[in-house]
Amino acid sequence: MPLAENGVLGAVLTNGSTLSHSAILARSLRLPMVVGVDDALGSIAEGDLILVDGEHGEVVVHPNAQDIARYRTWQREQVQIGKRLARLREAQTLTRDGVPIRLYANAEMPADVARARLSGAAGIGLYRTEFLFLQRREIPGEEEQFLAYRDLVLGMGGLPVTIRTLDLGADKADASGVALEEEPNPALGVRGVRLALRHPQLMITQLRAILRASSYGPVRILVPMITLVEEIHSVRRMLDQCVHDLRSTGQEIAGQIELGAMIEVPAAAIALGGLIRHVDFISIGTNDLVQYVLAADRANDHLGTLYDPLHPAVIKLLSQILAIARRARRPVSLCGEMAADTRYTALLLALGLEDFSMHPGALLEVRDTIAQLDHAELLRHAPALLRASSGARVAGVLQRMQA
Ligand code: PEP
Ligand code: MG
Repeated sequence: MPLAENGVLGAVLTNGSTLSHSAILARSLRLPMVVGVDDALGSIAEGDLILVDGEHGEVVVHPNAQDIARYRTWQREQVQIGKRLARLREAQTLTRDGVPIRLYANAEMPADVARARLSGAAGIGLYRTEFLFLQRREIPGEEEQFLAYRDLVLGMGGLPVTIRTLDLGADKADASGVALEEEPNPALGVRGVRLALRHPQLMITQLRAILRASSYGPVRILVPMITLVEEIHSVRRMLDQCVHDLRSTGQEIAGQIELGAMIEVPAAAIALGGLIRHVDFISIGTNDLVQYVLAADRANDHLGTLYDPLHPAVIKLLSQILAIARRARRPVSLCGEMAADTRYTALLLALGLEDFSMHPGALLEVRDTIAQLDHAELLRHAPALLRASSGARVAGVLQRMQA
């Protein structure tokens, strides 16, 4: 990536949030980043020495010897923690009472594949393909996409790979090859599958490339921003046509390709009972689901605590989604940043989640956390979590659960 090649060691943003796509990309690049430092331009000058602490969201301008010593100590502690966690690479993910949980990796770029393997991921639970399209003038063609997906599938050595179709739009709009519309409210506009259905050739090219890669290992296709069952039907029709076209030219593709929906629009979550029969699996995108349920922009740090994954509405919706998927016998995973955050691990297990997908850097820590939790005990607390009337009360129940 140009940033790393140009020797950038860290980034400080005057706006943004930890859930913005720049932050997700920075994590993928292992680039320390602090967002929402409103006065950064006023207080940092060219040539200043600064410490960028992406872990705690702190920027120290002109650090003194004490600051530097403090951070060196912290860095050494991190190395020790990393060494301890590294022993879990080969370990199975089990709760304390022996319930197996599956941890998949999210991937945005080729380097994530090696990291996923290194952390013992069960596969790729979310490959964000839009990163192939960003920061370039022309749209990657079928061959280029095929090679990227094939290498991803080969790199995972037979483990399942979930490739998400293009999710451009909203804050992932820096792809000048794709004619994005000028919209007053892009987060509620032509984004994800809506964009793909307005530009069928874009979708067909991508589906063909994914199908061709499917002959190299297990691949599933995941569609973002599903709101209507008709959108699933449209994508399935395109997929069937692509399968037919490729087979008729003698192209090898997998016998069966599963099609799944991201559940990140509240309408799809609320009406999931009817929708789920039309897909093979679902993946919960809490980054967007939380923003749309709470009407709180995921990329706006001025909203403070309003963007709260512990809001009772979010907890209830997650619980319903998981129950519906269980009843419909459809695999369900959760691939938003919540899956990577150990503050939420007990909550998600208590609500019944068994498949997590997260950036590979978080995987061992989550595995370690799961090993300390008793599954049967957590499930007993689910009713109390669902009764709580505020985010603070949910947090209180969570604290008691783990005391
Ligand atoms: C999500 O919305 O939770 C998600 C995983 O997708 P993205 O962050 O790419 O929008
Ligand atoms: Mg999303």
